[in-house]
Parts: sequence; structure tokens; C-alpha cells
Amino acid sequence: MKKNEVLVLEAFDTTLEGYGVTRHSDLVIFVRGLLKGEKARVKVIKTYKNYAIALIEELLVTSLKRVAPVCEYNLKCGGCCLGHLEYEEQLVLKKHYLESLLIKNGLDLAVKDTVASIPNLRFRNKIQVPVQNGKLGFYRAHSHDIVEAQDCKIQSKNAGAIIDFLRPHVINNLKLRHIIIKEAFKTGEIMVAFVSLAKEDEYLKTLALKLKDQFKMITSIIYSYKYQDDNVILGDEESILYGKDHIVDILEDLKFKISLKSFYQINPYVTPLLYEGALERIKDLESKNVLDLYSGIGTIALFAAKKAKSVLGVEIVKEAVLNAKENAKLNHIKNVDFVCEDAKDNLKKHLKGIDVVIVDPPRKGLHQDVVELLSKEGIKEIVYISCNPATLIRDIALFMERGYQADYLRGYDMFPHSKHIETLVVLSKLKTDKHTKVKLGMEEFDRN
Ligand code: SAH
Repeated sequence: MKKNEVLVLEAFDTTLEGYGVTRHSDLVIFVRGLLKGEKARVKVIKTYKNYAIALIEELLVTSLKRVAPVCEYNLKCGGCCLGHLEYEEQLVLKKHYLESLLIKNGLDLAVKDTVASIPNLRFRNKIQVPVQNGKLGFYRAHSHDIVEAQDCKIQSKNAGAIIDFLRPHVINNLKLRHIIIKEAFKTGEIMVAFVSLAKEDEYLKTLALKLKDQFKMITSIIYSYKYQDDNVILGDEESILYGKDHIVDILEDLKFKISLKSFYQINPYVTPLLYEGALERIKDLESKNVLDLYSGIGTIALFAAKKAKSVLGVEIVKEAVLNAKENAKLNHIKNVDFVCEDAKDNLKKHLKGIDVVIVDPPRKGLHQDVVELLSKEGIKEIVYISCNPATLIRDIALFMERGYQADYLRGYDMFPHSKHIETLVVLSKLKTDKHTKVKLGMEEFDRN
């Protein structure tokens, strides 16, 4: 197989990254944008030891599942790699992906149908736009090159208009690294942040005032100063150029303050479904004490607290914990508290008297100490929300080795058209509890 070789190939599968899987002799060739069942004349662009990558030159057989791409930058910008696949099929693909990952890891678990995002366009309440070498746009897949996509269809109209307004003013600003826009879809409040390597920027200060005059929904403009030119997006020091240091959003019947540094789920259409799905799995929540690890601004914790006996949230980002405490007050919820800590640090102490633990870790999944302690302390119910199926399945396997059963595995399509999946699973300890055993007089059967 050589670079630039032209072949006619048929895809027998589609990957989550939107590549058609084809075979030529003994080699697997991934064809960008080719769907299962499609045939195309393709050109090989890269060869590796065991596989090659090719691009479509001409589509010869078209799948019925192919649709007009969500936008003209489809497959160029790294975001919507599935934008040319019918939305219902994206949901099926994500379910199959979870199933195949489970099989690869030797786990025999059923996966429920993926929960759809309605709508599946203009759902993002946050965008982070890199500014680099006179360009402002989105990253190309597997690269730090910028594609200057205009009117990205998964971002809001407001965010697009703000970026268009800012583009000519900031495009040649050599110290500006990112523009971040956070929008509260329910209240309409918008935060704009300039992340820059310059300690101060008089031009951006003036621009901020023009910006807020132009867009009345903007209630917060923040300057975020970054000490170092590294891969971290957010800066180290913040100052307010206009308005407040946060925006307020409403999810169902609860209000949430959100600061620049605080995490907030990016798809407000799917978020309530995910939280509801998670909390519905907990039986007799009214009588339970809940620990919410990786609690962010306290979203899940506060929804849980409306029913539960008590909730404690643990979160490492100081600003998020401050938001969470204020959010409890804002919603007059009293049976909840938050601490700013690494989830693993005081876990043993926090687990005293806890009946159920909710975890929602970042992409790297749970720290091994967290898995160990939750199982050692005999936590009977763990509701696990994950934004990375690979680490989720690694952790499910660890819990299963420690006497847990996993149920209700379900993907939530928080990120339509992209390769990402949010997943929920419920883990329950199989061991009969001591109380039941004593009652039944079966202590001798306790093999754990
Ligand atoms: N459950 C929340 C937040 C989930 S995102 C929600 O649904 O909105 C994961 C959160 O974990 C982020 O807020 C992040 O700041 C926090 N986090 C990351 N590492 C952590 C750690 N080691 N200990 C505690 N929290 C951590």
C-alpha cells in the first residue's frame, strides 16, 4: 500500500469518528466520511504498519442513512464528524460503540437506547474559540490548525453573532488565546471572556464596552490573564470588564449561578434528562443520605436534595464550590453542603452514614483510591455519570471485580454530531447486607 494509491472500497462499518471501515488485502483502510454500506473511489493519504487512512474521491454507492451535512465545514473542523449521518443512526452508532467497548473488555452488559437531544442543532451553551496566527475558528480533527468556520450550527445564534462582531477586532491580537462564550439559554444571560497572555489590554477593555452596547444580553465580560502559553484554556487571574462575574441559568425549577471557571453541562436539553435518569435509579431517595462526588456548581446535588434526606457535594474547583453554596441558598435548599477538596482525599470520612454515592468525574474517570474506598466501605449504590466511555468501562470492570453488578447502562446524546457520549450506569453491591444476614441467620454464607 502506497500513499496516493487510488482504490475502490466498500465500508462494512462506520466508526464513531465518522470513518468508514474497509479492507484491502490484509490491511484495514479507514475512509474519512464513508458510511457503512457505501462504496467509493478513494485515495490513500497516510499509511501505517497495520492500517491506512484514505479520503473519498468519488462516492459510487450512497447509503440511505446519508444526509446533507449539518454544515459546510463538516469533516474539516474536528467537531461534527458524524454530521453527514442521519441523526437517529448516530444514536444507534453510539449505542453500538458502547456495546463493542463492553465486549472488548469482556463485560456482558446490555446497553439501553441512546437518549436523543431535542433539538440536535444550536444546543451548545458554551463555546471556546481559539485565536491563532490571524485566524479565529475551531480546531481541525487531531490537530491544532484552525478552521475558520462561520456560523457553526451547534452553537447558538447569539454566540455566532458575537464571534462575527469580534472577529475583525481581535484577529490580529497576538496575545489573545481564546474567546469563551457561556450562555444561559433559559434566562438569556451571556458571559464573554477574553483569555490572553497579556497582563492588561486597553484595546480589549474598550472593545468590551462596545460589545455590551451591541449585545444587550451580555451581562458579564471577563478578562482572563494567562501566565503561561500552555494547553490550558483558562487563565490564572480574572478581572471584570463589564457586569457580573457569573451568569444565572435555570434548569427545570432550579436556578444556578455559573462562573467562568465552573463546569456546567453544555447541552441544557439533555442535562435534565440525564439528571432525572440518574436520580430515578435511586430507590427511596427520601430516606437516603447522598454523596455527590465531582459536584461542579451543585446541579445534581440540588436536584437530589429536593428529595433526599441530605446531600454532600465534593468538588475541587474553588469557584464552582462557591457557586454551589450560593446555588443552595438561591434555591432555599438547606439539606445540602459542599466542600472544596479532591474527591479522593477525605472520602472515608465523608462516607460515614452515606447510603448512595453519585459520581460524575472528568474524562480520566475515577481515581483508583475512590474505587477502592467506595467498595471497601461497602457503598451499596453508586450512580456513575461519565463523559468518557473508555474510562467508565475500565471503572465498571474494577467495581465488578469488587462484587458490584452494573445495570441500566445508557448513553445520553449530550454532544450530537460529534464522537462524544455521556453515559449513565448504576452499580449495586451484590453482597447481602449484614442486617439482612443476621435476620436470616446466614452469616456463614458471607463469602465477601
Ligand atoms: N456533576 C457536575 C460536574 C461534572 S464535571 C455537573 O453535572 O455539572 C466534573 C467536575 O469534577 C468538574 O466540576 C471538575 O472541576 C471536578 N473535578 C475534577 N477533578 C476533581 C477531583 N480530583 N476531585 C473533585 N472534583 C474534581
